[in-house]
Amino acid sequence: MVSAINSCALDAVAHALSDGPVPLLVLRLPEFERIAWREGKRAARRVERATLRIFHEASQRAVRAGDLTLHEPGSDLFLIAMTARGRAARLPSPVDCRTVLERVGAAVSLDSGLRVETGWTLVQRNEGAAGIDAAVGTALERGARERERYEFFSTIGHELRTPLTSIRGYLETLLDGDADPALAPQFLETARRETLRMARLLDGMLEFSLLDLSADALAQTCQLNAQIDAACEVVRPLAQLRGITLRVATSPPVNALLDADAALQLLINLIENAIKYGREGGVVNVDAQASGAEAVVRVDDDGPGIDPAERDAIFGLRVRGAQSFARPGHGIGLAIVKMIAERAGGAVRVDRSPLGGARFEVALPTKAEFGISLS
Ligand code: ADP
Repeated sequence: MVSAINSCALDAVAHALSDGPVPLLVLRLPEFERIAWREGKRAARRVERATLRIFHEASQRAVRAGDLTLHEPGSDLFLIAMTARGRAARLPSPVDCRTVLERVGAAVSLDSGLRVETGWTLVQRNEGAAGIDAAVGTALERGARERERYEFFSTIGHELRTPLTSIRGYLETLLDGDADPALAPQFLETARRETLRMARLLDGMLEFSLLDLSADALAQTCQLNAQIDAACEVVRPLAQLRGITLRVATSPPVNALLDADAALQLLINLIENAIKYGREGGVVNVDAQASGAEAVVRVDDDGPGIDPAERDAIFGLRVRGAQSFARPGHGIGLAIVKMIAERAGGAVRVDRSPLGGARFEVALPTKAEFGISLS
């Protein structure tokens, strides 16, 4: 039997925790507030009671005897503390926690038709209500990060299937000897193009996974000018293909609080986009300058630019804008740029370039917290 604690405060959970850390699973239904606001408190209470019933039924099936479930009336939170006896010696693994959370979350969301945010974290005995409250925030934040990562990898995984299927199809046709020999070079060329597409997707995947592991990298510094030169070398073949002139401004060297790999990644993504979306036979300008305590990198092109209405959205994962039509891509590059810049304590924005196209501007910190100037 699951012990359901329905009308007590968060410190009831704190009080009931067994020795040692205990996984706390959190489900939040953010729409409760909207329902109360739009349809009144009675309607919200009705939905809350129905959700509580679903939560208990789903929990009964998913958790072990001795685990605790908690919901405070009027709150949008539903908690499970995995305190079952016998688990004190061995903590439930992250997979156990995620499995229970997935099962209960999916049941609640399916049966209630409402959006459910989920997450889990470990809480210590005697943390008190304030500790549990903070743990709820930590769990939901971690859940959001895990969801973002899961969505990212499942999208990439899904997209990898298409080129893979097409390569396999061409190779099998050639091996079976069914194809007109005159078409063989064309088939092989298409298969080669598809492998390049797969490589690009895998690069994106790698970049993204490396980013999440690079907490240490935040303490490192790099010389931006050297990274600009390296990035230009990487994208030069594409620039030549489109007849675009790459111009790097000669300004005094500037350092940024960012590791060299991340800086290179950020610059390649921006310069590659400027070449990809810029005018055929046009110009791309790259410039890095110190500005107060910041290093500011600008990448300008003379393409069609970006509509003001799209300027925030394009930094989202898997978002492609109006200009993406007929150009290869997956809407990953700018999401990675934003993540790199923000993790380093900087920011990225887009504007109209004096060249007529888009101007991407990244501001990165140049000073360590202790006030040591790196530029
Ligand atoms: P992708 O290029 O694969 O679509 P990105 O995340 O790099 O993904 O870019 C997101 C969108 O932003 C693109 O689809 C495109 O519409 C727009 N964009 C990016 N850079 C430029 C640019 N220099 N000029 C015009 N549009 C751009």
